[in-house]
Amino acid sequence: MWRSLLDLLFPSYCLVCKTEGSYLCELCQLNVRHSLASRCDLLPLEKQDNSYLTVPIYSCTLYDFDSDWVQIIKRYKYKFSRELDAFLAAQLYSILFSHHLALLKEPATAVFIPVPIAYLRKNWRGFNQSELLAKRLSKLTHIGVWHGIKRCKGTSAQAYLGGKQRRTNLENAFRVVEKLPTNVHTIIFVDDVVTTGSTLKAVINTMRQKDPNRNYMGICLASRLVFS
Ligand SMILES: [Zn+2]
Repeated sequence: MWRSLLDLLFPSYCLVCKTEGSYLCELCQLNVRHSLASRCDLLPLEKQDNSYLTVPIYSCTLYDFDSDWVQIIKRYKYKFSRELDAFLAAQLYSILFSHHLALLKEPATAVFIPVPIAYLRKNWRGFNQSELLAKRLSKLTHIGVWHGIKRCKGTSAQAYLGGKQRRTNLENAFRVVEKLPTNVHTIIFVDDVVTTGSTLKAVINTMRQKDPNRNYMGICLASRLVFS
């Protein structure tokens, strides 16, 4: 009843071809699915001895602003078309987990950590996209979601800052508030899109200060990092 009233007031249009009926029509779903392929970028993290640790970041595609996939992610993020998260998570799952990650054999030893966003931003948007993605992926993979890391500083103006300011802004932005279970070997950070990688670096570094010896990786819908 409520749903049909909403449909009447705000009819849904396909985000790609604008056909009325749903947020993503069947044909566009198929086309988008065929445009995706698994990708792995390496995010370098500086260690205390000045050497580098590289963290693999798995995604469905290289971030391309003009692609339908990125347009869907962007619209989903800023307009409240929450229904799309099932589609996005399903693609991420079928592309990454079916081929790549051997984690499904031991889901009990891995956790997803959605990259936390500042409280004010969550309020304005109503939801954290990474958290919804992690929950969906958890249902599909039986890997649990861990919420023991929080964002304690508002960093909503992040996009408008230069590189150095960005880093300063992110320093101490995250805090570990719980102890990670000892049986967890692999920590998989979940983010919607990874652009500069600075947020992921900050959150992984915060976690590594507490737990340096676990296996770290990231997964996201689209990555702008350069393959290395
Ligand atoms: Zn369409």
